[in-house]
Amino acid sequence: MLPPDGRQPDQDDPASAIPCDDCQAALRSPGRETISFLLVDELTIPLAGCEEHLDQFSSACELTAQQRSDLLDFLPAGGISCPACRLARHSAEQPVIPVDAGAVGIMACQEHLSEILTRFQTGIQTQHQLTTSLDTS
Ligand SMILES: [Zn+2]
Ligand SMILES: [Zn+2]
Repeated sequence: MLPPDGRQPDQDDPASAIPCDDCQAALRSPGRETISFLLVDELTIPLAGCEEHLDQFSSACELTAQQRSDLLDFLPAGGISCPACRLARHSAEQPVIPVDAGAVGIMACQEHLSEILTRFQTGIQTQHQLTTSLDTS
């Protein structure tokens, strides 16, 4: 079945399957202007995506932060301390995580990728619990 607008997702370009155009654009050309840095506790994770969906991603991760969390649109003064993450940043292959109607590309090494994903999923669950408890009170 075709999507309502008749566009077929291009297998060679996973970004075309993302409903959010701004995320698509950011993922196609991750560069200085489109990369943001998510700081959660001791982690610094380079991310690509539109402002709105980066925000959603970071606010979910923020719920898991013990010390601090911040989303910067520039490389923080200390840089990225993990050498593997620095290398990952320069690779074209970044895992893309669906966030609501958008998607966020994560340019981190395997280790930090799985750590930030765990935080994101935990954060999403916490958000659901918060919403549910608000609904019932
Ligand atoms: Zn987006
Ligand atoms: Zn790393």
